[in-house]
Amino acid sequence: SAAYIPDEGPRPGETESVTVRVPAKVNLALSVGPLRSDGYHDLATVFHAVGLFDEVNAAAADTLAVTCEGEGQVEVPLDDTNLAWRAAELLARTVGRSPGVRLHLTKGIPVAGGMAGGSADAAGALVACDALWGTGLSRDDLHVLAAQLGSDVPFALHGGTAMGTGRGEQITPVLARGEFHWVFAFAHDGLSTPAVFHELDRLREAAGEEATAPGVEDELLRALRAGDSTLLGAALRNDLTRPATSLRPDLRATLQAGREAGALGTLLSGSGPTCAFLAADAVAAATVAAALEAAPSVRAVRRALGPAAGAHLL
Ligand code: ATP
Repeated sequence: SAAYIPDEGPRPGETESVTVRVPAKVNLALSVGPLRSDGYHDLATVFHAVGLFDEVNAAAADTLAVTCEGEGQVEVPLDDTNLAWRAAELLARTVGRSPGVRLHLTKGIPVAGGMAGGSADAAGALVACDALWGTGLSRDDLHVLAAQLGSDVPFALHGGTAMGTGRGEQITPVLARGEFHWVFAFAHDGLSTPAVFHELDRLREAAGEEATAPGVEDELLRALRAGDSTLLGAALRNDLTRPATSLRPDLRATLQAGREAGALGTLLSGSGPTCAFLAADAVAAATVAAALEAAPSVRAVRRALGPAAGAHLL
């Protein structure tokens, strides 16, 4: 009979591969400053990683290819516009090797949902290819590459709860105690992030409002330090709520359904259309989830705990 061979790397006929899990994010605060001359806005945000995940599997291959399954898979591009593809290319170029890798994405994060799913896949591809190729780059090196790929990519590497400044790519950890119970309502269609920012600029201009420098309120940071979900629920803020609900009035019904079901706080996630609800505990989260399941404006409901760890090898 065949001798037992200890599990050291791939066996003959098996492809060498690694899998990385990456969390979605919600912005507990999202303060948007004036439009800059380069077309971006200065942001002050508090990112919070939650237990909704994408997985990125990277397998040795001669050329670069991306495949995808799961939540919203038909809307995910499989060419060089996919952020995971770009991440693999950037890493390969940086270390001076060929970008040969087969990336398989298993999506649990809604596409174009304001939860940074594409950014999560970029962070996941960086960590997966780094491990597969044995590049020897440090976590700081990966962070620099992440910031080149997109404003939300560094946080997807980092995870936990963190302040984001600049375009969101400058990350500073925030002290947060305890665990928070979240409910997420996915919408029927996605919402384009640039469209929501344009609508914000348009509404501000129409109202003659002068945008001020972005900032995060102390109440929110205090609530996080104390691990107090009631205080946190009252301190949630997102400047993109007004433009997103202006473009998509059905989101108001979603937010109201969660509020009426007893959520401690309601929040548009990033640029939407996903809505986030903070609940006091698991039982309250189940009540909020059940109410949202019945709302016609809602496509699907998920529960998750936060904070979650950043991109990590499984
Ligand atoms: P953010 O909150 O960072 O603005 P989002 O969560 O709203 O992002 P994503 O799911 O990241 O939106 O993707 C937005 C668009 O980017 C999609 O419509 C899709 O065409 C494109 N895209 C590129 N790469 C990916 C990817 N790996 N996964 C999902 N979408 C991707």
